[in-house]
Amino acid sequence: MRLSKVSRILATLAAAAMATLGLTAVQAAPASAAVRNVCYTTSQAGPFASYAVQAAAIWNNRTNNINMAQCGSNLVISYTTGGGSYAQRTSLGNGRVVIDTIQAQQYSPLRIMTHEIGHILGLPDNYNGNCAILMSGGSAGTSCTNSNPSTAEAARVDTLFGFAPLSATGAEVFTGSWPASATTPAQH
Ligand SMILES: [Zn+2]
Repeated sequence: MRLSKVSRILATLAAAAMATLGLTAVQAAPASAAVRNVCYTTSQAGPFASYAVQAAAIWNNRTNNINMAQCGSNLVISYTTGGGSYAQRTSLGNGRVVIDTIQAQQYSPLRIMTHEIGHILGLPDNYNGNCAILMSGGSAGTSCTNSNPSTAEAARVDTLFGFAPLSATGAEVFTGSWPASATTPAQH
């Protein structure tokens, strides 16, 4: 294979990858379009720091109007043992996510992380048992490892950060998203 063709293929692959990640949409957006930073910190995340980084990348790739970065402590990622994972939203894009280490041994830690961050980004729970829905949480069972928001969920976040009044997604605590399995005591 000639080098020039290799280069063309690589360029095509790169473009396809960027399109998949939604980067072209961001780049094509007018300069005036507001992309709001959601600054998170992993300083209290312990063993879940890498999951937070992965979850932030997922949300960045799936949305156009937010940019999650480790630029501050608007969103604090932390963890606990027992009692259940939860998200404490103080306002849209602000608050705390707490990951239960016990639940993280039963459910996909990355799915828990992206789900709980979804609450901070304005999404409510949607316990419909559908694994394709991120906000279905534990209702989809422990075998569900999907950590990507659906197109509709990502679009909702974009709408909230793009247009909706912030009061529509104010302070709220979301608990009980991940029912304990039969092998451990109930945690809610
Ligand atoms: Zn939830």
